[in-house]
Amino acid sequence: MSTLDNNWFTEVFQDQGTAFSLQVKRKLHEEQTSFQKLEVWETETFGNLMVLDGCVMLTSRDNFLYHEMMTHPALFTHRDPKKVVIIGGGDCGTLREVLKHPDVEEAWQVEIDERVTRVSEKYFPELCESNRDPRANFFFGDGIQWVRDQPPGTVDVIIVDSTDPVGAAEGLFALDFYRDCMIALREGGIVVQQSESPLLHTNSIIRDIHSDMKEAGFDHVQTLAFPQPVYPTGWWSCTMGGKDVHTSYFREEDAADRPFVTRYYNEGVHRGALAMPQFMLEALEDP
Ligand code: SAM
Repeated sequence: MSTLDNNWFTEVFQDQGTAFSLQVKRKLHEEQTSFQKLEVWETETFGNLMVLDGCVMLTSRDNFLYHEMMTHPALFTHRDPKKVVIIGGGDCGTLREVLKHPDVEEAWQVEIDERVTRVSEKYFPELCESNRDPRANFFFGDGIQWVRDQPPGTVDVIIVDSTDPVGAAEGLFALDFYRDCMIALREGGIVVQQSESPLLHTNSIIRDIHSDMKEAGFDHVQTLAFPQPVYPTGWWSCTMGGKDVHTSYFREEDAADRPFVTRYYNEGVHRGALAMPQFMLEALEDP
């Protein structure tokens, strides 16, 4: 739920008894798409803000934290990612990060709501700067079905850059979906899922992701935490599952020598994010 009071946009987390506010200048866009209510605001200090169904999705100022951590740990854990698929991610920020890897030959963004992409092109052009890269492909439709339709063993990395596990995204946090990812991935493949807040969701969503990924056949599952100021608790995570690949090891030298610019990710950040806080280790020990 979100409210507007005296130029303060507030997302209220009723069940947590908390809220997050940004001072806004004006509303730039509002529409009801076929899937959700989509708003864009101009804020005083965080650039533009995208909101879906009252939930903050991203701001110009801090989205790099999330987009870099959703992408580079997985791509530097995979031995040689050539074909990468993003499920959701309609703002194109994850796609931009994926296409920074020169050895990626083909990237797909599979977003259910085309309007999110069209509106991002207008209000977040910096996130869409790689959309014309010849390696970029777009499919507008349900990511659950798209993964199910893939020929077995044809994808290297699947990045699930989705909204919270409700509505159209609910089935992206489910055992059947991870089973379909397992089939679509080649040997050595990786699935990475945005996995919500470590503080709020370790004993629920994150633990369920670990047990579902393991049940689907991913033998190594690893959660990486990172800061994300505009999300509930300001602390977020992604969870990687490896198909015959250990998700706690990565190509450290390649990460250190990466031939592109990042603002948060580097090999030290990656190494540090592999160290899980004690309460998470205890909660996630063989669920
Ligand atoms: N970083 C954001 C977060 O964690 O809140 C997510 C950003 S991205 C805008 C999420 C996208 O997932 C939305 O645009 C939404 O339309 C898309 N989405 C939700 N369910 C989907 C599905 N089943 N298939 C494809 N895209 C989906």
